[in-house]
Order: sequence, then structure tokens, then C-alpha cells
Amino acid sequence: MSQESRLQVFKFGGASLHHADAFRHIAALLRPYAGQPLVLVVSALGKTTNALEVVVNAYFHDPEVAFLELQKVKKLHQQIAAALFADSDPVHDRLHNTFAEAEWLLEESRKESYDYVYDQLVAVGELASSQMLARFLEINHLPALWKDVRDLIVTDHTFREANVLWPQTIERIRNYFSNISLPPWIVTQGFIAATADNCTTTLGREGSDYSAAILAHALDAAGVTIWKDVPGVMNADPKLVPQAIPIERLSFHEALEMSYYGASVIHPKTIKPLQNKNIPLRVRSFTDPAHAGTLISETAVHALPPVVVLKKNQVLLSVYPRDFSFITEAAMSQIFSLLSQHRMRTNLMQQSAMSLSLCTDESPRLEALLQALRQSFAVRENRHLHLLTVRHYTEPLLEQLLKDVTVFVEQKSRHTAQMVLQPPSDWQALNRIRFQ
Ligand code: ASP
Ligand code: MG
Repeated sequence: MSQESRLQVFKFGGASLHHADAFRHIAALLRPYAGQPLVLVVSALGKTTNALEVVVNAYFHDPEVAFLELQKVKKLHQQIAAALFADSDPVHDRLHNTFAEAEWLLEESRKESYDYVYDQLVAVGELASSQMLARFLEINHLPALWKDVRDLIVTDHTFREANVLWPQTIERIRNYFSNISLPPWIVTQGFIAATADNCTTTLGREGSDYSAAILAHALDAAGVTIWKDVPGVMNADPKLVPQAIPIERLSFHEALEMSYYGASVIHPKTIKPLQNKNIPLRVRSFTDPAHAGTLISETAVHALPPVVVLKKNQVLLSVYPRDFSFITEAAMSQIFSLLSQHRMRTNLMQQSAMSLSLCTDESPRLEALLQALRQSFAVRENRHLHLLTVRHYTEPLLEQLLKDVTVFVEQKSRHTAQMVLQPPSDWQALNRIRFQ
């Protein structure tokens, strides 16, 4: 089969879908692919997931507020739908029904866990956006078929961070696709999935990239393209570092390192399913589709510029034995098993004679972890910190970055420097970085 006729997976993020014109733009962008087999994976519109998180939080305090917040989200979708579709279009009913399911859930008594409710409510964002995109392509004479991804991606019951059950998932995806011939393009949801007994789950915030990779892996796709509002992968977040440089090529390994340290351009779980099948990943600009963007593949890439990744909302924990003893391997193993039980990740760690320092994300699960740790250890905590990672660092660059900053922990290997730091209130270092 020629490269052209092999299946490609395209993922559109929320930023490429936040108003009516964005839908028109996507239709124009996709038109040249009309004869080709595509799977389109979409996120929720704009900041919908954040808005739905507000609904979830409200539900546990004041269901009436939750209902009102949900109406705001619904209204925003209806306004965009009114701009895109005729009054008689069936999409309006589909949206109504999608939101009705969330409204019913808000009426139920609050006996389910937070994480369970979260997944049921937040999924509405992707269900609604994908219905709108599929229908919009269809009325513009583009071949699109809406598919509920919850029939395809099977997970365990870890709500909000569900683990994919690969054998079942691969079987369901292959079964479904072996019974249809593409085009039509399949328009489906990112981020959401379901358990084998049909409970909706989600794959973690920004998880739509991962959904695209799961589908591509199962289908042995020729490639995945993530369409974004940036020109590709840059060597720093351009919102923080105006001088950020686009990177043309990256190895899977480098991309994995970057996303692991917190570069938000790609969801960290995205790389493995693609690397395992050697499926190239492109990150391209939604507004500038003529630009090649970044190609991420198996090929090693040398001479990369320094890559700067800032992860905010970090907490530094220093864990000490209570009786002035050394921090033993047995103590460390106890500490790590508590971290794993509480599903807390260490972003950096450092050990001294009497303490283990751990940098972790500020999270609703942190308090429970602290309580558990304090049963056996003394724990000191420093909050509101940043974790700054610089791959391929140079000393002059670190000097620029660390001026006036209080560094709590610093670690360097040959390729990577990491600092847990507290910046001054008017921190300008990122704004001012010059890479050349
Ligand atoms: N809509 C979800 C989020 O905002 C998933 C995604 O965008 O990838 O986290
Ligand atoms: Mg998003």
C-alpha cells in the first residue's frame, strides 16, 4: 500500500476548536485528505474541561450551583452550534441529549466517589465536541462518521487516570475497523474511555494525545499528527519564553524525556505506543498547515538546542527518620510504597544521611500521603515551588535562569540540569532568555 493510502490519525486539541470559525478552518484543512483513510480524535472545545471540573466540584457542595455551571457550558456549545448549523439540524438534539445525561447525574444523590463522578461529567466535553465536528464535516460534504470511543478503548476502574487494558482494546479496535472501509473518516473522542462493564473513565488531563496513540498503535497507522496552536514542539513553552525555537526533528527518546519533565506539548503516555510500533508522530500548526512542524521518530537527533521545561505547583517534602538514624534502604522502600499507594509521582529526589527529599506535584491526594508518611517519619514541606529542567544545558544559560532565584535542590547529569526553586515575585528570567 502506498504511504498516502495508509491510515493516519489526526488529533485536534481544544485550542483548535474553540469557536465557530475554528470548525470552518478544520474543514478546510481536512479537505485535501478527502480520499484518504483518517481517524480524527478530538478534545473538548477550548477550556471546556476546566469548566466541567468546576461543575464536578460544585456538585459535592451545592448541586444547584453545579447545575447552573453546567448550563453555562451547554450554552457555549449551543451558541457555537447555532453559528454552524441550521435550526433544523439533528446536531442540536444530539447535543441536548448529551448534556441531559450530565443533568440527570447531577440530580442523583451524592453517594459515588469524586473520581467516578468526575469522569462521568467531564466526558460530556469530548462527546459534544466530536458530535459537532462530525456533523459539521458531513454537512460540508466531507466523509465523516461519529464513533463513541468508549466502545473501543477499554480500561480498568482507576477513574481520572484509567489504565488501558491493551489486549481487549486492540481486539475491539481491530474488530470495528475490519468491518468498515475508510473513508468515511472516523471522528471520535480523545481523553475518554470505558471499563469492560461500561463505566466511563478518563485517561488523565490532556489525555487526548494518548488516545490518538492508542488508536494508531492498534491500527498500525502510518502516522499520527497532533494539530496545535504552536508551530510544533519548541525548546520551551512560547507562552513563557518568547524566544523559544521550534525543533524540526526529535527522537522518541528525547520527546519522552521532555514530556516526562513536564513539557505540556505532548501527553507523556503518548510516545510509548507509537515507539513500540515505530509510528512517526508529527506536531503541526493548526493555523499554518503548510509548515512541516516537528517530526518525532526513532531516528536519533544530535545538536539539539537547550530545552527548558518549567513545572509549577511543586511541593518539596523532606522525610526524616524520627530517631536521628540514617535513612536506610528499608525506610526508602517504605516511603516509595506509600507514594505508589497514594498515586503520587516523584519528579525529583535527593538523599542525604538523614533525609530523603522528594519533589512532587501539588495534588488533592497529597494530604493523605502526608498523613501516612507522618505515622513513621518526620516530614517537612515547602510549597509553591517550581521545578525547572534544562536538557542540553550550558552554564551561561543556567546562570541567566537562576539569577535572583532561591534554589532548594539542584541536580545535574551530563545532559540534564534540574532545580527545585522559588522565583522572586517579579521573575523575568524566562522572558529574557536568549538561546543564541
Ligand atoms: N479535554 C481534556 C483536557 O483538557 C483532554 C485533552 O484536551 O487532551 O484535559
Ligand atoms: Mg486540551
